[in-house]
Amino acid sequence: MRQFQPGQPILHAYILAAADADVREKEATALAAAMLCTADGARPCGQCRDCRKVFRSLHPDVICVDPASGSKHPVFKVDQIRDVSADAYIMPTEAQRKVYLLRQADTMNPAAQNALLKLLEEPPRSASFILAVERAESLLPTVRSRCEIIRCNTESDALPAEAVQDAEVYLSLLARGDAVGLLRFSREHERGDTEAIQAFLTAVLRRLAAHLAGDQPLPGLSGADAVSAVQRVERCLEYLRSNVSARHIFGVLSLTKSNR
Ligand SMILES: [Zn+2]
Repeated sequence: MRQFQPGQPILHAYILAAADADVREKEATALAAAMLCTADGARPCGQCRDCRKVFRSLHPDVICVDPASGSKHPVFKVDQIRDVSADAYIMPTEAQRKVYLLRQADTMNPAAQNALLKLLEEPPRSASFILAVERAESLLPTVRSRCEIIRCNTESDALPAEAVQDAEVYLSLLARGDAVGLLRFSREHERGDTEAIQAFLTAVLRRLAAHLAGDQPLPGLSGADAVSAVQRVERCLEYLRSNVSARHIFGVLSLTKSNR
């Protein structure tokens, strides 16, 4: 849990990234409490009136916004961001500021993210925002640059070393467009069990995210190719959840950039 030391300023906007939904909610609540806590020591203290209300989900100045339930998937709509924006100019009821917790903020489409960006560029003085997401990289770089990113690494986030290594090998083959190498790699891995394949796919996604964020570039892989690789791997994770055969999944993964 993130704690703020005495005198440490609280920013207007945070991205709270955690793969696990429960961890995300818990950390977001603690962060909201820290933002409103009136203690002189480390915040959240968990004892003051504001902390207690936040932890019991009773604080009138913590406003949780969930994405609208769409036809298939929940989506954060631009109108919701506009509502938040209008509301953010109204003064808080009890605390020094209002905290808007946007759950599943990674379901915002670009229009909604651009509306949010306007709000983050000139935030009302008494409003703060927590964008709770699975992966920070799913938000536009312009939005990310306006926020401090807090990444919560939980134990379930740790991946087996083998999956991480395999991801590195796979992505270097993909970056080179090595069709033969990709086929061989796929043949060798299609017998893995579901858990191993899931770990591998997750490792590939994380590595691509680090590449796209500019943290750890993968030589030879353009941004557009990385984005399409992310889409492909996400599709494969979906296949895995729907019990599509490993052979088919690796068939999809073995396509090079040029022949997909
Ligand atoms: Zn407190």
